[in-house]
Amino acid sequence: MNKLLCILFCFYLVIPMTLQGEPDQDLYCGFSRIDITPPVGYRRAGNFREIITTGVRDSLYAKAMVFRQGTEQAVLVFCDLTSISPVVAQQARQQIAAQTDILASNIIISATHAHTAPLYFGIRRKLFHEQALKKYQGSDPHEEIDYPKHLTAQIVQTVSRAQNSLQPVQISAGYTWQTGLSFHRRFYMKPGSERLRQPGAVVRMNPGRMHPDILRPAGPIDPKVNLLFFRNPDNTPLASLVNFALHLDTVGGTEFSADYPYFLQQIFQQKYGPEFYSFFGLAPCGEINHIDVTTKEPLTTETIGKTLAKTALDYFGWLDPVDKPALAVESKTIRVPMKSFDSKELAKAEKDIHLMGTSEIAWLDQVQANTILNIQARESKELAIEIQAIRLSDNVALLALPGEVFTELGLAIRKAVPFETVFIFELSNDGPGYIPTRQGFHKGGYETVNALVAPGGGEAMADAAIELLQELHASF
Ligand SMILES: [Zn+2]
Repeated sequence: MNKLLCILFCFYLVIPMTLQGEPDQDLYCGFSRIDITPPVGYRRAGNFREIITTGVRDSLYAKAMVFRQGTEQAVLVFCDLTSISPVVAQQARQQIAAQTDILASNIIISATHAHTAPLYFGIRRKLFHEQALKKYQGSDPHEEIDYPKHLTAQIVQTVSRAQNSLQPVQISAGYTWQTGLSFHRRFYMKPGSERLRQPGAVVRMNPGRMHPDILRPAGPIDPKVNLLFFRNPDNTPLASLVNFALHLDTVGGTEFSADYPYFLQQIFQQKYGPEFYSFFGLAPCGEINHIDVTTKEPLTTETIGKTLAKTALDYFGWLDPVDKPALAVESKTIRVPMKSFDSKELAKAEKDIHLMGTSEIAWLDQVQANTILNIQARESKELAIEIQAIRLSDNVALLALPGEVFTELGLAIRKAVPFETVFIFELSNDGPGYIPTRQGFHKGGYETVNALVAPGGGEAMADAAIELLQELHASF
C-alpha cells in the first residue's frame, strides 16, 4: 500500500512537471543556403567606376543559420554581397518576423563584403542607373531584375527553410590564429612623399608594393580566426562558421564571385560532403587587406581561401564543446552624429558626382562626393547604429555591427568583455561606409573620407557593444 502511495505521489509530482513543461533546454540549429547571383550584365559593386559583369566565376549565396533553445531564437544570415542595403535588411527582417515566431531584433543580416557582387543600392547605383535610363530611352539593361526585391525574397525564403530544418546540435567553439594573409593597409610615409596626396593626412592606403617611401604600417592586424563547428547528436558534421578580419577584395575582374570564402566552402565540402554548410562572417577589417607591401608576389584568392580553410580544418578537432548552451539575444540602437557639410560642399558634391569614374577630378574628390550625398540621402544628422549580441554560453558570444569597422575597435571590444570567444560580424544590417577610430580620423586617408560617421562614433559604438556583452554575461 505504501509502495502504491509512493508511486501515485511520484506521478503526481512528475507528470505535471513534464506536461506543463520545463521548456526543452536542448540547443537546436537549422541551416539553409540560397543562390542570390543576379543575371550576368548587372553592375558590379566595390568600385567607384561603373563595372558591368560578364560572367559567374562562382555563385553568390545567402546562407542562414537559426538557433533555438527553449523560447529564445536567433538568426544569422551571411550574404555574399559587398554591403547589405538597410532597406533590404529591414524589410527582410520584418517579413521573417511576420511569418515566423522570431523577433526582428534577433535577426542579423550581414554581408561578407565580396566586391565581385552586385551594385544594387546607394548613390553610385543611382548615378549609373540614371545615366543608363537616359542613354537607353528609359530602360536600364543592367538592371534586368528588381534585385533588392529579389534579394529580400531569397533571404526570407532561406531563413524559413533553415527554421524548418531545426535539429538538436552539439556545438564546439574557440579560436586559432592565422598570419601571413592579412596586412594593415594604412602606412606612414616619408615626409613629403608624393604618395601622400591628401592634404593633412599622415597615412596612405595601399601605397604600392615595395614602395620606397613606406615607413611602417599605421596600426595592427587581427590574426584571430573564431570558429564554430556544428555536429548532430550522432556526431555527423553539419556546419562550420569562420570569422576572420580580412577584406574580401581579392578577385577583381568582371565576374561574380564570393571571393576567398568560396574556397573555404569547397575545401570543407570535400572533407565533410556536399551537404555540409560553410558559413563565413567578416570580422572588423576596415583597414586590413591581403596586400603584403614587402613582396612583389601577390596572394591569390585561392591561396588565401585554401590556407584559411586548412588552418580552420586543423583546429576544428581542438575546439571546446559548448556543454551548457545558454542562448540569449540582446540588442540596442545608439545614435551618433554624422559628418556635417555646408551648402558649398554639397553643391560641389552634386557637381562632382557626375564625374565619378572619370579622371577629370581626383579620386578622393569622387569618394567625398559619394559620402556627402549618401549622408544627405539619409535625411538626418545622426546615424542610427544597431548593435546585436547573441550569447551561446558563458564563454562564447557573437556580435553584429554595421559598417566597415576598423580592426582596432574590434580588438578593443574583445579585450574588454568577459567572453573568451567573441565573434564580431561587421557590415550587419547596414553599410554606412567605414567606421574608423578617432585616431584613424586624425591620421586621415581614404577610409576616413569614405565614412558617414563623425569622429567619435566608432568609440561610442564600441562602448555600447561592450556594455551589451557585459550585460549578457552578467545575466548568465
Ligand atoms: Zn571595404
